Formats: sequence, structure tokens, C-alpha cells
Amino acid sequence: MNARHARYPFLGDARAAVQEAGVDLARVVDEDDAVVERARERVVGALTDGAIGEQGSNVSNRVELLSYPVARVLVSVVDENVLVRKYAEAEAKAAHERFTADETDESELKSVGDDGSLSRADLLREFDLTSHVHATSEGYDVAVPTYLLLSSSLRGDEWRLVNRALDDGRVPVSESELDALLREAVRERVADDLPMNVPDAIADALEAPATAVRDVLADMDLTREIDTVVPELFPPCMKHLLDQVQRGEHLPHHSRFAITSFLANIGLTTDEIVDIYAVNPGFGEEMTRYQTDHIRGDSSPTEYTAPSCATMKAYGDCTNPDDLCDAINHPLSYYEVKLDDGEDEDLEDWREREEREADA
Ligand code: SF4
Repeated sequence: MNARHARYPFLGDARAAVQEAGVDLARVVDEDDAVVERARERVVGALTDGAIGEQGSNVSNRVELLSYPVARVLVSVVDENVLVRKYAEAEAKAAHERFTADETDESELKSVGDDGSLSRADLLREFDLTSHVHATSEGYDVAVPTYLLLSSSLRGDEWRLVNRALDDGRVPVSESELDALLREAVRERVADDLPMNVPDAIADALEAPATAVRDVLADMDLTREIDTVVPELFPPCMKHLLDQVQRGEHLPHHSRFAITSFLANIGLTTDEIVDIYAVNPGFGEEMTRYQTDHIRGDSSPTEYTAPSCATMKAYGDCTNPDDLCDAINHPLSYYEVKLDDGEDEDLEDWREREEREADA
């Protein structure tokens, strides 16, 4: 287990090194406090700072490397979408910072290949991209399918294919743009299969750090974050259904369930939902209240979650999907991502509106 494995633990090589060393993860989480502590630090740091932190001088390469698979297990034990997303982003951010620094590092250690560095070419090989990405006199070009795959989660109009100059079926990109695409490849690999099924013995051994992570999540009040109601940031499908409700149109049961459960999941009270439906002549208040309480779990043993994108599509309720829809698989995730983007103009407008109303 060398420095490169420790700095880039998502590499196939690093995984092979763990396997070759015959590491028993159940034993590690049970007995190796240093590994569990560094894993906890990775995950908590991802939540609080968007960063996994650096390998301390007293942390060996072995501990640093093993803390990565243990962190993935820890994320799986806590099992929250927002945690998977933030953790994968933080690991990808660290990798991006490291390999872009390695690319420009001309130090002596690098020349003897002993500093754990990784080049852009190494990463292209790692992700089987060498035949899809070519160097050009001005940077690189990327085959269209590969470009679409890697850029699908990147925000910003500049990444949309319609805004790119195509060159013979390939997309020219700068070095820094290629690095951003590689960062996406890392993010996807980190998030791959998360959350995993974790055997009970391992989950039990990680109960203390899992509780610590849950406490951080609770303190950050990410649930309140999603409790914020900003209709401008709703996914297109829910905007459309809400529009129909407010125009007094009749909705089939599955559509009514979709919008009601979505509104309940983001924190609207039964009274607030009843008020929204009150404009619709097809809804008696009593029935609406009963259905809403049922969905909210107030009058039933289950709190229902809004349907996934797959279910929405199957029922014909997926309307006008946009670019962000390509990157998510649940309308709540769409909303969560939008809310998370604090720069979003709609959210700023909403905050100003809220402040004005509070002052009035
Ligand atoms: S892809 Fe999902 S979030 Fe987007 S419009 Fe369709 S159902 Fe809604």
C-alpha cells in the first residue's frame, strides 16, 4: 500500500492492493480505531466542509487507504441520499485538486515516481478513456457519447452539447474542462453502488461513528433544507402537476398522489396542502384532508415517499424533463440539488421575499 494508493484510493490498483493484503474489513472496523477515525473524518468533513481532509503526518498510507472503503461503508450505514451525494463530491474534489496539482508539479520526487502522483494520462487509462479522448494542438477532444456521459451532471449552459463547437463528431475541450470531466468520472466511481448492503456485524461495529454522522446531519438540518418550499425550484413534473391543481383540473389518482406526497415530503402541513387543493372544485376538503393525513403517515403506519422518476415516467407524469433530470432519479433529489445550489437566483428571490414578508 503506497502513497499513490493512499492519495487516490478509488483506483483499481488501490483496491487490488487491499485485496492482495488480505484485509478483512469486518476486523478492521472492529479493531483498527485509527482507520475508523479517519473514515469518520472523511465523511463528516464531506458534510461540513465539502472536503475529506488531508492525510495527517501521523497517518500511515495503510490507514489512509483503508479509511476510504470504511468511509463508503459508513455512508452506507447512515444511508441518506444527501450524504452519498456530498461524500462522492468531496472525494472527487480531493482527487481533482490532487491530480491537477500533480500535473503541474515538476519536483524531483515526481521524476523518480515516488511521490504518489497521478497524471491526466494515468486517469484516462484508469477510466478506459484513452481511445475516446485525444490530445490536440489546443487541448483535447472527446468523443460525443463519452462527453455526454461525463458532462451529464455538470451544471452550466457551457456544458450543453448545443453550446459546444463540434469537430468531426468530437467535442473540443480545454485541459481544465477535461479535468472537470475526469472529476465527474471519479465522483461516479465513488458513488457507484452506494449505499451498499452492509452485514449487521459491520454495521454494529460502526454504530458510534454512524451516530456521529447522523448528529452532524441533524445539526446541519438538511431535512429543514428540503423543508423549504420554493415552487420555482420544483422539478418540471411537480411544477406541471401543481399548475394543474391550481387551475382546478381533475388529476388521476396517481398524479394526485405524486404531487401530494411530494408536497408532504418537502414539509408542507396537511392544512397547507388542503389550502392548495381548495381552489380545485373536484376536491372535497374532508377527502383531501383524509388522503393527505394518510400520505403523511398521520393516519396510517407508513409515511409515503413521492414516486421515483421511473414510476413517474411509467405513469406518464414525467413532464418536460430538463438537463438536471438526466443526473437524478427522484423528483426529491432534483429539488434537493436545486436547493443546495445557494447561488440559484430563484432561491435568492425567495429569500428576499421571505425577508420582506417577515419585516412587513
Ligand atoms: S425526470 Fe424525474 S424529476 Fe425530472 S421531470 Fe421527470 S419525473 Fe420529474
